[in-house]
Amino acid sequence: MVDMKESASSIGRTTGKIPGEDTGISIHKTFCSICNAPTHCGIDAYVKGGAVIKVEGSESHPHNQGALCSKGSASRQYIYHKDRIRTPLIRTGERGSDEFRPVSWEEALETIAQKLLRIKEETGPESVVFYAGYSKWFRPFLKRLAHSFGSPNYCTESSTCYQATAMAARLNYGCFGRPDLKNARCLLVWSHNPFYTNTAMTRRLMEAIDRGLKIIEVGPLITPMTRHAAVHLRIRPGTSGALALGMANVIIEEDLYDREFVDKWTHGFEEFQQYVREFSPSATEALTGVPAELIVRAARLYATTKPAALLPSASPTVHHTNGVQNHRALTALIGLTGNFDRPGGNYVVPPTWLNISTAASTREDQFKQVRQWKDMAPRVGEDVYPVWCRLTPEGQAVHIPFQIQSGKPYPIRAMLAFGMRHRMWPGSDWMLESLKKLDFFVNVDLFMTETGRFADVVLPACTSFERSELRFWVENYVMWSRPVIAPLYQSRSDADILFDLAGRMAPDDGLMQKGYEASIDWILKPSGLTIAKLKEHPAGLHLKDFQMPPYRKYEKQGFPTPTGKMEFSSTILKEEGDDPLPRYQEPGLSPRSTPEVAEKFPLILTTGARLPMYVHSRTFRLGWTRGLRKDPSADINPADGASRGIADGDRIFLSTPRASLEVRAHLTEIVPPGVVSFYHAWPDADANMLIAPDYLDPLSGYPGFKSLLCQVEKI
Ligand code: SF4
Repeated sequence: MVDMKESASSIGRTTGKIPGEDTGISIHKTFCSICNAPTHCGIDAYVKGGAVIKVEGSESHPHNQGALCSKGSASRQYIYHKDRIRTPLIRTGERGSDEFRPVSWEEALETIAQKLLRIKEETGPESVVFYAGYSKWFRPFLKRLAHSFGSPNYCTESSTCYQATAMAARLNYGCFGRPDLKNARCLLVWSHNPFYTNTAMTRRLMEAIDRGLKIIEVGPLITPMTRHAAVHLRIRPGTSGALALGMANVIIEEDLYDREFVDKWTHGFEEFQQYVREFSPSATEALTGVPAELIVRAARLYATTKPAALLPSASPTVHHTNGVQNHRALTALIGLTGNFDRPGGNYVVPPTWLNISTAASTREDQFKQVRQWKDMAPRVGEDVYPVWCRLTPEGQAVHIPFQIQSGKPYPIRAMLAFGMRHRMWPGSDWMLESLKKLDFFVNVDLFMTETGRFADVVLPACTSFERSELRFWVENYVMWSRPVIAPLYQSRSDADILFDLAGRMAPDDGLMQKGYEASIDWILKPSGLTIAKLKEHPAGLHLKDFQMPPYRKYEKQGFPTPTGKMEFSSTILKEEGDDPLPRYQEPGLSPRSTPEVAEKFPLILTTGARLPMYVHSRTFRLGWTRGLRKDPSADINPADGASRGIADGDRIFLSTPRASLEVRAHLTEIVPPGVVSFYHAWPDADANMLIAPDYLDPLSGYPGFKSLLCQVEKI
């Protein structure tokens, strides 16, 4: 049953906030969607004369309770930036020349539809890739359009973010659980820095720490979390798997594991137990650089402070050439200690919408997967990453340039992309060269980007302030947002564009022909919610009468794995000819695996650690955020700077075996000696130019962004 009691009346708040009723200012409830879907913070937008004049974190919103980060606070600069694309554009000059002519929406969309339908007729629908980069909110519609068109090639930036951790967890458990922070007494935070990436979670974490939550932090960098941690295990980048196996060694040897759970609900424990004998604390210290006594302390703390939860980040543990097995090893600790799907452990709540889990259920999966995989051609990357394709409901986008270049097993000739950045790919220059080979390339975006300049057609999208959108939050909260302002210039929402294209390219898809709101209503059906009901609650609705799923669901239904148990030894990996154990391997480039390379490049390079003011390249162009860190700079330990004659702020070469960049040195104890940390996505110093296109995890295809070798020298 739906509770129709609104959390707060937007009208009530309005009179309290504006300076006077004669000001003409109104306050509208919306949310920020600059960063990841799980963190979309509620916003009060002050509007006057059809323009947003101010934004504030919405105090009544249960997710962020008034907080906004530096990126969300700069929302007005995002909405009104001069680089917003104003009209649809068709290219008239060379690719990359920036020569376009403005056209009507009708001409642009008809050009796209006719071109893609012709390619479908000539070489099959699979020759067209449907790609989502910058945002997640419209992805179900994009995937549906791809499948209705007949292409299996729905691909997203999740080919380098999040899905490999989900894949590792699925190999172990068939599903995965979020940390039950409210009930946990110990939290194992693995390479995760919510202070920079998740404003709302930070508040809840601090409250839990005040209640006595014990933190074990794992990761090479010092973060704002470190001062709250009982133990900080400062690993050498790329050795998470070894550390997890070392902790498992202590937990098993000291008989601290949950025997009852392991005996009854796991598969392959004996093999695992035998394997982790190789990871004594001293052997693990030699691999990870973490002192043996700290490994023992952390393992005991995690195993004996019940209940304990694991909080990994979306990607840092899998941005290595050994990433999936790394992540399997660390998620194995959850089952080993009996913390899976238990109060205060890692609690399994099926996703409601866009990977947000609440008490409500929807038909998102049925909506998206309108055609079965067996009824379509193989997905891009399926021949190279079969395990990915068994466990992940999309193609492997990292493989796109390889298939464009080789034409095998079939040609990729066109891409319909939303918010695509070629700089996401390792060897990003090679990705750009590959894009030039396409017969047809469309990019939809807010801003004219470096990648957009190479498109044949560019379409202007609008921000979350200019559209209507369904959004759930983990606090059992839901909102159907309404546009705060009309779309600027001729921009349109991504969903409008997709539903319009569906009319032209997938006329047999009856539901898409009914339109956006009809499709959302269809998706919402199991929840009992409708758009009409949600419109009655513009500030959002608490799902108070919805029941959360019980804990320990596996006791009734088993685990959704081939054996019905948690698998220390993976049946799927064995079937595919891979190592079924979460076996540790050195990163492809490391002082241990390639000592000959380390002679010339003796430092370990880790790229992509978040900065608080940026999310990839999305807020680079905003004055407020760019002012906080203007130049590409590499974090270097002062000892490594001193031994090379490098002072803070010096211009340096940051070099790998593949390429060299000119950047600024930032000397800081945040990085340990021997490690260089460099933010990614800078147009003038792109970290991904330093990484070879094939420096990848063989199971997931994820790039080894976070562990390779480099050198720095003063210019
Ligand atoms: S964390 Fe920041 S960027 Fe992300 S949704 Fe919240 S305010 Fe926006």
